[in-house]
Amino acid sequence: QSFKSVALIVGVTGIVGSSLSEILQYTDTPGGPWKVYGVARRPRPTWLAKSHVEYVQCDVTNTEETISKISPLTDITHIFYVSWMGNEDCSMNAVMFQNILNSVIPNAPNLQHICLQTGSKHYIGLFETDTPESHDTPYSEDLARLKQPNFYHNLEDILFEETAKKGLTWSVHRPALIFGFSPCSLMNIVSTLSVYAAICKHENKPLVYPGSKASWNCFVDAADAELAAEHQIWAAVDPNAKNQAFNCTNGDLFKWKHIWKVLANQFDLEMVGYIEGNEQVSMEELMKDKDSVWDEIVKKNNLMPTKLKEIAAFWFADIAFCLENVLSSTHKNRLHGFMGFRNTYTSFVSCIDKMRAYRFIP
Ligand code: NAD
Repeated sequence: QSFKSVALIVGVTGIVGSSLSEILQYTDTPGGPWKVYGVARRPRPTWLAKSHVEYVQCDVTNTEETISKISPLTDITHIFYVSWMGNEDCSMNAVMFQNILNSVIPNAPNLQHICLQTGSKHYIGLFETDTPESHDTPYSEDLARLKQPNFYHNLEDILFEETAKKGLTWSVHRPALIFGFSPCSLMNIVSTLSVYAAICKHENKPLVYPGSKASWNCFVDAADAELAAEHQIWAAVDPNAKNQAFNCTNGDLFKWKHIWKVLANQFDLEMVGYIEGNEQVSMEELMKDKDSVWDEIVKKNNLMPTKLKEIAAFWFADIAFCLENVLSSTHKNRLHGFMGFRNTYTSFVSCIDKMRAYRFIP
């Protein structure tokens, strides 16, 4: 088969990487037909076995390994960088991205465009920063960088410098909280909440909201993983999107109190929600001894084998459930011609449906 474009997805098993790998293989995807290389740290997972992705297991923190495995892929035309190392270390996250660019740019003569995924932490600062200054909402793409270390700045600077040297085009994508189906993501809020609900069900407990009162009541925005993938593919092929940063959200707003009802329904649970007067309780703390409970649930329901700490990121839910008023503007997308949107509640349910279809959750 002859291909019009060749993608390198760095982080192919992740929350957006897995959606990119699916969508790039549809016959009607813009820029197609696409050949797809996918890089991830661990061996190819069985749920990705049927996909046509040419899988490259590579630890991209390792410079020699990255050069030896990625530089032979000389037909790459587009890079989709949807990875991070799982912590916010500026220098190591920068090394990962630089290793990829050093392996591809000198060796792939038809390389055209690089998509870099960062996120709303561009506007609110890193989770690990103690006293984050932050911008007022809604965040627009042209706001000045916060004056504090942030690996997103390092990644952007590498992107700007390397693309300018070679006359390549780039786009930066800043999704809100992502709703997706991957069990290999380091931060998947839908799998995390589904696992929490499954454990409540298994233990005959009602679905209590452990977050703060403010987070229960406030507006939140999210980005469906498939929409985030479509957003990057749009930027990769559309001349109106070149050399720009774009927020990425579903275009609507939601509240955790409404999602909670949907979650309770999905798992046939009694919904308690936020208990008036309660302070936030850490989910990470609540779930810290539940590894063997999850193992039992996996066995009882004949699920794909996963470990609790891989499929659920309770620390991430703790952050989501104390944030308030984190909202991004979508205006610039429309101005440049991206009209994609999703209904956040439908997105939430379809991620659960998909995780069930793959037998990741009961
Ligand atoms: P993810 O955690 O879902 O997936 C990470 C991917 O990178 C996996 O495929 C993993 O195998 C791969 N990876 C990690 N370390 C690697 C290594 N050393 N070598 C090779 N591959 C490696 O990714 P994500 O959540 O899409 O994160 C990408 C960016 O998006 C991050 O900057 C993150 O902050 C941002 N973001 C995430 C969310 C969210 O809800 N998950 C929301 C907004 C922004």
